[in-house]
Amino acid sequence: MVQYAKPLARLVEELSKLPGIGPKTAQRLAFYIIGESRQDAHSLAASIVEAKEKISYCSQCFNLTDVDPCRICTDQSRATTVICVVEEPRDIIALERTRDFKGMYHVLHGAISPMEGIGPGELRMKELMTRMTDKIEEVIIATDPNVEGEATAMYLARLIKPMGIKVTRMAHGMPVGGDLEYVDEVTLSKALEGRRVL
Ligand code: ZN
Repeated sequence: MVQYAKPLARLVEELSKLPGIGPKTAQRLAFYIIGESRQDAHSLAASIVEAKEKISYCSQCFNLTDVDPCRICTDQSRATTVICVVEEPRDIIALERTRDFKGMYHVLHGAISPMEGIGPGELRMKELMTRMTDKIEEVIIATDPNVEGEATAMYLARLIKPMGIKVTRMAHGMPVGGDLEYVDEVTLSKALEGRRVL
């Protein structure tokens, strides 16, 4: 066993708790931080504390925000009649990057997964249902195109459709520049299913 000086051991241990960071990477990062200027190290530590203290969930859409309601929920230029449902806050960032969607969002914070014991109760579904007023015209379900995402989409459609609200699912396109024969069957069958008239 490598014997680190105690403060260094603590830093390595804390870093190795982060997702995707193994002991080797934790060690590399720790040595890097120690090699940084005192100011850079302080800035890193302060940014972690500040983000943790100031960022919370928007009480309407459950996106990460430093103001409540968040800037998207209070943006007057956006349509409040359309809600796009996503699994994670990072999905909003990806969708916003396209600049194509000008409606509201709702973050479920996961997807239904019986394997992992995640049911509708573990997700922000009740909160979504309270947003289903008669002002809502369409709900776009943009959960991931995998087993969990599909199950979640089906579940939500079954709840929302009877309320007379249009429920749509994003078409799962073929990867641009991809070769049809190398596309997995789930993508292919979804692409076929989501075909549109030309
Ligand atoms: Zn919000």
